[in-house]
Amino acid sequence: MPFQDVFGHRRIVDLLARSVACDSLPPSLVFAGPEGIGKRLVAVAVAQALNCLQPRPRKTEAGAAASDACGTCAACTRIARGVHPDVLIVEPGDSGAIKIEQARDIVDRAAYRPFEGKRRVVIIDDADALLPAAQNALLKTLEEPPSLSAFILVTARPDVLLPTVRSRCPRLNFRPLSPQELAEALVARGRSRTDAVAVAASADGSLGRALEASAEAFVEAREVAEQVLTHAAGVFEPRRRIEGAKELLAHTGGSGASDREQLAIHLRAMASLLRDVELLSVHADASALANPDVRPALERLTAAYQGDRGVRAFGAIDRALVALERNAGVKIVADWLVLAL
Ligand SMILES: [Zn+2]
Repeated sequence: MPFQDVFGHRRIVDLLARSVACDSLPPSLVFAGPEGIGKRLVAVAVAQALNCLQPRPRKTEAGAAASDACGTCAACTRIARGVHPDVLIVEPGDSGAIKIEQARDIVDRAAYRPFEGKRRVVIIDDADALLPAAQNALLKTLEEPPSLSAFILVTARPDVLLPTVRSRCPRLNFRPLSPQELAEALVARGRSRTDAVAVAASADGSLGRALEASAEAFVEAREVAEQVLTHAAGVFEPRRRIEGAKELLAHTGGSGASDREQLAIHLRAMASLLRDVELLSVHADASALANPDVRPALERLTAAYQGDRGVRAFGAIDRALVALERNAGVKIVADWLVLAL
């Protein structure tokens, strides 16, 4: 996908397009930012821009000269399909880790001149999965890459990388997409605007997540989220408070992984409502709301959750989501959360 078709991340994409045009791209980069917001897509766009057979000159938003891929030549299509011999995409194996053998293989292959392209590009996705020994094996290559090679480490957890790796790779921080940008991206992919707005509200800035979610499931999740927040706001006695956890566990009862994802959907819907509550309590512009269609419910929640309590609840949801990512049991997480709201 050429740079110009990437949704959002305009500042970063312009910077990269300009660097490609004036051949000043740093040889090793870290793309950091939450999951599912398009970091890997942008890394592939860089590989295409560097190797396109018919590159297109274009201007950045600020009017600087930049270069973009055509997206349709043989090089662009092979890179997009992951079969270009000079563009290497490395991912964690079944073990969930990127092992030292993979790192050594990268080092070996990067030492050759490109076979047919102009630049060899090595994209390491989920780079935080690199075992420390694998990171050490890459160090020298990241510091002084062979002249025609470029490395892009894509990660949602840049702080897990060794300091020695981080210090050798300039980092570009990708931000979550705004609900408006997400909605636009969904409309461009054929969703109706009403659907797109509803889904974008719960996706937490992740296009990947938004594409998976259906509007119907989202509306349901938001109803659960609202009920749980309302219950917690009005009930103080812990034993009764914990009854709210049952609601939060609606539609679970399947496998561990699908239960965790279901609970996470409810939690993200809660976070989305609380973000809007925060906006309403500071009288922010209504166009910034992610859930403008349930405004009366938001106003009811604002009475209970504005200020410190909302911040605390938001933090608790965040911790609960992290716990789920680390495979915590859904019942424990739900019980803990309703008490912490
Ligand atoms: Zn091309």
